[in-house]
Amino acid sequence: MPTCRVFGIHPASISGRDAATAASRPLIDAGWMPKTRLVGKSGLKVKPKVYLALAISGAPEHIEGMKSAATIIAVNTDKHAPIFNFAHYGMVADLFEVCEELTEAIEDR
Ligand SMILES: Cc1cc2nc3c(=O)[nH]c(=O)nc-3n(C[C@H](O)[C@H](O)[C@H](O)COP(=O)(O)OP(=O)(O)OC[C@H]3O[C@@H](n4cnc5c(N)ncnc54)[C@H](O)[C@@H]3O)c2cc1C
Repeated sequence: MPTCRVFGIHPASISGRDAATAASRPLIDAGWMPKTRLVGKSGLKVKPKVYLALAISGAPEHIEGMKSAATIIAVNTDKHAPIFNFAHYGMVADLFEVCEELTEAIEDR
């Protein structure tokens, strides 16, 4: 499922829910999402109840846009990634290994 490989969660499972997908700068620069979906210093400042940071390193410019989220959940293969200093919950894991389970969990809600 290509979109799962890109975003971790299939956008169809988010559609129609009170949720949205967004991205960090490398994905925007690569053209995978429009610039209007950029979170950070140069983009959106978001304040969701839950911010799911999939493969986000935690650069200050990105943190600036999402640090006000009530709950931050991070999934990163690097246990030293700075995002874990900001996350309320963290998982050292490959997002490709957890994305199907995450999608199912969302669809079950
Ligand atoms: C003036 C200026 C303004 C900027 N404005 C913004 C902005 O508004 N928004 C923004 O986002 N950035 C901005 N940046 C860029 C910012 O500095 C970072 O480069 C960017 O946020 C890094 O994005 P990232 O975390 O997605 O990528 P990276 O820093 O490359 O991190 C990727 C992370 O993914 C992890 N990873 C890789 N593969 C997997 C996997 N399979 N499973 C789990 N984890 C994995 C890695 O361990 C790593 O921690 C700006 C930079 C400058 C200089």
